[in-house]
Formats: sequence, structure tokens, C-alpha cells
Amino acid sequence: MELQKKNVIISILLPIIAAFLLFFLKNSLKASSSGCSLVDNNHYWISSKRIVTPNGIISGAIEINDGKVISIVKDEQWRGITKGDQIVDFGEAVVMPGLIDVHAHLDDPGRDDWEGFPSGTKAAAAGGITTLIDMPLNSEPSTVSVQTLDLKIKAAKNRIYVDVGFWGGLVPENAFNATALENFLRAGVLGLKSFMCPSGINDFPMTNISHIKEGLSVLAKFKRPLLVHAEVQEKLVEDSVDNNDGDVKLYSTYLKTRPPSMEQAAITDLLTVSEDTRVGGPSEGAHLHVVHLSDAGISLDLLKKAKARGDSLTVETCPHYLSFSAEEIPYGDTRFKCAPPIRDGENKDKLWEALKVNDVDMLSSDHSPSLPSLKLLEQGNFLKAWGGISSLQYVLSATWTSGREYGVTFEQITSWWSERPAKLAGQHLKGAIAVGNYADIVAWEPETEFHLDDNHPSYAKHPSISAYMGRKLSGKVLATFVRGNLVYREGKHAPAACGTTILAQ
Ligand SMILES: [Zn+2]
Repeated sequence: MELQKKNVIISILLPIIAAFLLFFLKNSLKASSSGCSLVDNNHYWISSKRIVTPNGIISGAIEINDGKVISIVKDEQWRGITKGDQIVDFGEAVVMPGLIDVHAHLDDPGRDDWEGFPSGTKAAAAGGITTLIDMPLNSEPSTVSVQTLDLKIKAAKNRIYVDVGFWGGLVPENAFNATALENFLRAGVLGLKSFMCPSGINDFPMTNISHIKEGLSVLAKFKRPLLVHAEVQEKLVEDSVDNNDGDVKLYSTYLKTRPPSMEQAAITDLLTVSEDTRVGGPSEGAHLHVVHLSDAGISLDLLKKAKARGDSLTVETCPHYLSFSAEEIPYGDTRFKCAPPIRDGENKDKLWEALKVNDVDMLSSDHSPSLPSLKLLEQGNFLKAWGGISSLQYVLSATWTSGREYGVTFEQITSWWSERPAKLAGQHLKGAIAVGNYADIVAWEPETEFHLDDNHPSYAKHPSISAYMGRKLSGKVLATFVRGNLVYREGKHAPAACGTTILAQ
């Protein structure tokens, strides 16, 4: 009798407990997955009158399922067939592939008081960047080995709002150790980066042309690129211009310390090994990428010639070289200090022209923040201040604000900021709104202007050090989707940081 009673109780209670557990489990799962995105559905549509696709700008909709684009249809094809589906409509706003920033310093781990993964990737998301490739230096330690890459990956875990990949450092310590480099590349760095002049970071020493040649021969086997900071310091000019030699608060004093000849000398040197990357050359399969070109003169001519002869070579420049000119930089305003330096207005015009005819291939932020105390905003000493422009959240607006004066198109911006960077970083499912690709998308209003002041929501750790602060910019980012997750919409981020760390296979 007792046993029967027990059985009855169990048979009633068990299903209730099971149902309760299931309900609890389902809801907690739902909460964690929806924390990644500000839209609930896994299957939905994004519509707009201006969608930038590889086949031109269309008015229509993008169908997204499970983080990928599964169809793209024009207006007349999709109205009526999607009743009941969720549609995120952006009206007249431009819908483009998310930006891929191949050059950013997030300084994590070790210097996350300079930036860090959470604030850096929040700023990126608010600026329409869906993927960024983090530089191996300015974190502590620098990323120069399998062990230091592991530290990066751990630091990024559950702390990134967009996808993040990593470049590894090519430094004298590993350049002649092919096994170390191969292991490093096998561990997942998307390529290597080296400096031809002092980097300003103690554990990231400069390389010479022999190191670079060695690096290329290893990279060839993996078909990955070497990114090079191309300036050669002919002599330590910063030290030779002392306080008596020029007013250290004048930008022109700093500009004299890094003349175009420094870029020219480095590129001349580099082109003696870039020929190894040609078809049939000893390093066929490797690729050389010159980061942040500033000199639109002889340096650019040299690069054009090398490309024409078949070297596997690309070059990037940054919005700050296209937005500012040396003549305009205010007295003591060290927010504008970077290396290579911002040159004159004529050079800026030439850079834009080079970009438009594809002599310069792509854009990157070179977001390189530091502590405000190192930027010496109060002291105004251009020779002593930290060199680096803080810009991550504003690169799309800055590119458009300056670029529309030069007649640039949305397709060109897409090619400079998404298509070509995706190729450089080996990300074949990114960089274009195309069926089968990840749904990495930005929606923005080119016509909307905003004043970048203290009231503007900025997500970088130290907004005051940005050279764009105080400017009026055109192009407001409305929403950013990463792998189908709506990670940012008009001042709001998704609660959870669900970006993916990208490791090369
Ligand atoms: Zn940099």
C-alpha cells in the first residue's frame, strides 16, 4: 500500500519537476543567446532602399538565417512573400558590409588602461566595424610566440563585441627560427607584422631586411601576409632636434623629424625582397602589405612600379592622412601626432587620388590610443608625446566626411574598408553582402551630421585624446550586425560580448 502511494506521488511529481526543469533550461538558454543580439530571431530580414552588394546598389532585402546571408532580393521579388517574418527596416539608410579594420591596437592584455578589448570593440561596433585584426604590439607582452598568442586569446574570451583576429610579431628573436615561426602561424595568427624603425615598445624590436626576407619565406608556405611599418630612421632625428632647434609645440618641428625620405628609404629596401613574392619567386605565396602609407610622392611611385612588375604587394592608408593636413594642426595639439606623420594638404589630395585609382588598396584605422598623460595634451610637446591617433569609432564617418568632397562612392568605401581587407586577412566569408557569407552588416545615414563633442556617446576608453574630437562629421552609424547578431543599435550595445576570435586554420 505504502509503495503504491509512493509510486503515485512519483508519477505525478516527476513530470511536473521535469517540465519545470525544461522550462527553466529553455529560458536560461534563450536569455544567454538573446544577450548576444538586440534582435530575437535567428531568421529575419534587413531591408533598405540602398543596399551595397557586389552587383551594385539595390533596393530590397537581405534574408538572414543562423548568422549567414541566405538570400538577397530586390523590392519587387520580396514584398508579399515574407508575411509573418521579422523585418528590420532601415528605410533610406545605406546598408553595407561591416568594416574590417586590419590595423588596430587594443593593448590587451597588459595595457588595458590604454584601451582594452571591451571598450575597443564597443567603439568598433558603434562605428560599423564588424571585424578587427589586433596588432601584436602595445599589449604587454607583445604577441611574438605561441605562448603570448594564448594570452591574447584568453584576454579576448567573452570580452569582445565584434570578431577579432590577431597578427603576430616578426621580431629579431623569432625571424631566423623557422620552427618557431611555423608553430606561431599554425597556432592561428593571420599573418605577421614587423617594424623597419624602432616601434616605441621595448619588447617589439625593429627588423632589418634580412629578417623580413626570412619571414617571407616561412609565410609563403602558409600563404599569409607580412605587414610592414615602412620607415627607416636615417639618424635619430627626434634626438637631434633639441629644444633650441625648434619650438617643440609646433607641429612643423615634429614633421621635420620624419621626412618622406624615411618612408622612401624603407620602401626602396623592402622592394629588394618583395620581388621574392612574384609567381615563380622563392617566396611565391607570401604577400607584402605596407601599412599606413603617408607619403604620396616617391614612396607611392616606387610601390606602383613594384606592383606593375608583379610583386604580391598591397598598401593601406588611414583616414587621418585623408582628413587632416599639417598646416591645420594647432599649436601644441599633440592629439595629431602619429608616425609616419600627417603631411601637407597637397599630399592629402594626392593620397585621395591614389586611393581612387587603386594605387592605394585599402584603409585601416591604425587606432593607437594611450593614456592621456602620455599624449601630453597639457604640455603640448610634439617630440615627447605618444604617437598614435585614436579613431576607431569614427573611421567610417571620417572617410565619408572627407571623401565625399573627392567624389567617392559607397562602392569604393566598401572596397577599401571591407572587400580588400577581408582578402588580406584571409576571411573569405566576410567583406561582401553575398549569399553564404556571414551577416556582418552596417546600416548608416550618410546625410546625418553630428558634432563630435563631450556630449557625444564615445565608447573608447579615452575619447578626449581623439584628433576628431571637436569636429563635425557626416555619416551616422545606426546599427551593426556581426554574424547575424545585432550588436549595436543607436547608442545601445547587446548585453553580452559574443564576438568570435578568428584563428587561421
Ligand atoms: Zn599601428
